[in-house]
Amino acid sequence: MTPTIRVLVVEDEPLTRRALTLALAAAGFEVAEAGDAAACRAILRERPTDVVVLDLGLPDQDGIDLAADMRKQGDVGLIVVTRRASPDSRIEALDVGADDYLVKPVHFGELAARIRSVMRRRKAPGRQTLRIGRWIVDLDARSVLDGAATAGLTRGEFDILARLIAADGGIVSREELLTTISRRPHDADLRSVDVLVSRIRRKLGHACENDPITTVPGFGYQLNALSREF
Ligand code: CA
Repeated sequence: MTPTIRVLVVEDEPLTRRALTLALAAAGFEVAEAGDAAACRAILRERPTDVVVLDLGLPDQDGIDLAADMRKQGDVGLIVVTRRASPDSRIEALDVGADDYLVKPVHFGELAARIRSVMRRRKAPGRQTLRIGRWIVDLDARSVLDGAATAGLTRGEFDILARLIAADGGIVSREELLTTISRRPHDADLRSVDVLVSRIRRKLGHACENDPITTVPGFGYQLNALSREF
């Protein structure tokens, strides 16, 4: 089963916002709504979001600036829906990282199709992404994201995670994990592997049903709940 796509509608006109929200919910998306840029930021901090449907004319901040900020902070999909029909506005939005641009009035069915298309492109083959709990791990971008939220792994933590992923569910010894984080393993202590693993658990655990990493006593660690459906 494919996971439900989580959409955030950012639109200051209440009737338009309501209509978009109802239409997208009816199309099978999980929809939240925000009436201005501040509400959008607050929701993105709290709720995992896959795609933002963004109006440009917002009361508290121009949508272009908001789009640029969102692009800097995370990997959320971004579809602009606006009255601004000029090529300049379209170019500006695409240049700050919008995935798509639709001019109002929008056809709801088309918007739903564009959202699905953005999701497909973001999961395109060639990028090595996989899923751990709600996290999407991108090995090329070295990112671990739940919607717009990042796990914030340090370099060493990501290297350990990547080594466990490479083992494809197999057990990796602590010594082996140590060599992935230290060029001169004898300089480091095996305890540092345990510390990094416990930090990874803390950072990823809340978005996983079970502990993402299993301890194999006296030997090493192994990754749980790894899914390559992406
Ligand atoms: Ca507006």
